[in-house]
Amino acid sequence: MRYDFHAHTHYSDGVLSPSQLVMRAHEKGVELLAVSDHDSISGIEEAKEFVSSKSLSLTVIQAIELSAQSDFGDIHIVGLNIDSNNSDLVALTKQQQQKRWSRVEAMELKFKKLPVEGVLADLTASCKQVVTRSHVARSLIKLGYAKDNNQAFKKYMGKKGRVKVATDWVTMEQAISIIQGAGGLAILAHPTRYPMSNRRLSYLIEEFKIASGDAIEVSYPSISPDKMGWLEIQRSKNNLLASGGSDFHYPDLKWSDLGRFPRIPDDVPHVLNAIKDNIQAHTAI
Ligand code: AMP
Ligand code: MN
Ligand code: MN
Ligand code: MN
Repeated sequence: MRYDFHAHTHYSDGVLSPSQLVMRAHEKGVELLAVSDHDSISGIEEAKEFVSSKSLSLTVIQAIELSAQSDFGDIHIVGLNIDSNNSDLVALTKQQQQKRWSRVEAMELKFKKLPVEGVLADLTASCKQVVTRSHVARSLIKLGYAKDNNQAFKKYMGKKGRVKVATDWVTMEQAISIIQGAGGLAILAHPTRYPMSNRRLSYLIEEFKIASGDAIEVSYPSISPDKMGWLEIQRSKNNLLASGGSDFHYPDLKWSDLGRFPRIPDDVPHVLNAIKDNIQAHTAI
């Protein structure tokens, strides 16, 4: 079964609406699609309504990508197959969304000193719901302060960026517990994309397991066979399940299109088997 367990809509930093996302996934042959916005569940309902209105042979998996703090720095945790009406989860999305707006307000103070003018005003006008550093990068490009996404991150928001602001996201332990309380699986997202050594990453994966995490992503676009092999060793050693997804944001990035990531071998224990007989239905409040 063709699946993609990590994708974004315009409720966070994706550019497609939930309907457009679902349509594109269907066109790419994806049969199971997790709608997993940053700290938001708002795209799920529209995605599901679109599938049923068009009678598409695609199932939307209710999901989220939570930002969280760990002992090794900020991480992303995908909550797969969650009850998107769970009150603790809904409360957490509101809290994290508020922290995201406070973060860009703090960035604006630093921008003013440079001076870089107009970022917060542009974000307020253009951002649909969840504000991310991708939005800040887009504003910087639009306003002529960066030539592309890479430069915007490097110069302003990366490790040594001029407007870097720390955020007190929910802890890894709390995020896992809230995801599981909402009936979902907690998956450590794109482990090799965090800025840390393999040694520290192996400790992070151990801590994720100790905190009762369920799975790690072992496949995502452009991951090398070496890194995939290394992640498979960590997965197996810690008795976690495997997941994979495109982390889709933009249609113009062909290398990270929907459904496009290396195949995970059939004999690897997979989140797909854990959820397939128990796909949660969204019931609007
Ligand atoms: P945030 O959750 O607000 O910190 O934003 C994180 C998002 O920014 C990620 O999901 C990526 O889409 C994007 N991102 C993070 N780091 C980079 C980078 N170095 N270059 C380009 N995009 C990035
Ligand atoms: Mn993103
Ligand atoms: Mn992520
Ligand atoms: Mn993502």
